[in-house]
Amino acid sequence: MSIKTHINELRKAIMPEVKIVAVSKFHSASTVREAYDEGQRAFGESRVQELVVKQEQLPRDIEWHFIGNLQRNKVKQIAPFISLIHSLDSERLMLEIEKQGALNNRVIPCLLQIHIAEEETKSGFSPGECRQFLANGKWKECTHVRLKGLMGGMATYTDDKDQIRREFQQLKSLFEEIKAGYFSNDPEFNELSMGGMSGDYPIAIEEGSTMIRLGTLIFGER
Ligand SMILES: *Cc1c(COP(=O)(O)O)cnc(C)c1O
Repeated sequence: MSIKTHINELRKAIMPEVKIVAVSKFHSASTVREAYDEGQRAFGESRVQELVVKQEQLPRDIEWHFIGNLQRNKVKQIAPFISLIHSLDSERLMLEIEKQGALNNRVIPCLLQIHIAEEETKSGFSPGECRQFLANGKWKECTHVRLKGLMGGMATYTDDKDQIRREFQQLKSLFEEIKAGYFSNDPEFNELSMGGMSGDYPIAIEEGSTMIRLGTLIFGER
């Protein structure tokens, strides 16, 4: 099946309030263009170098999402145009985004990346670290960083649908806790990004995801 068919099938299956982020990492600019021509506008990339090259080659109205591990020394390359950074996972990274946002005269939307999967991972806050980060309060001084919600990294690699559902539920319940504790008067803190589970996206949506990151289901195997 073609990219066109994949996109149109997914649109039929997914209610319009849920944003589809087409994960285009390792796919060429011309492949992204095919999806663009079907009306897809939100694309997710996980490497700064690859993103910057594609951003220059492709139409300006694309909404670029950064979904990978972000090194501080690379923030300046994406700060001028990035629509949403899904992978804010430390205070030091936030301070750099703040600095580059200010230099570009932009407020940069970000999600706090959480790892709920039980396996060891190097990126993302644990729920405890995220609570600590928020309690610390430094984020309130960062007027060029806009916290919009939470991102769940890749779910545990498993066929166990109950475990996958439990992980999405844990993320949703952390979201509710944080929303109530810090953002109850902020309608903009309302995003829950889940992905990296291809066929399990319906579970993510049932469990409250507002954004789903899909690569293989749109573009095929990398
Ligand atoms: C690659 C990636 C995805 C998409 O994974 P697929 O299995 O291709 O759908 C989602 N989220 C993150 C963080 C990724 O790196």
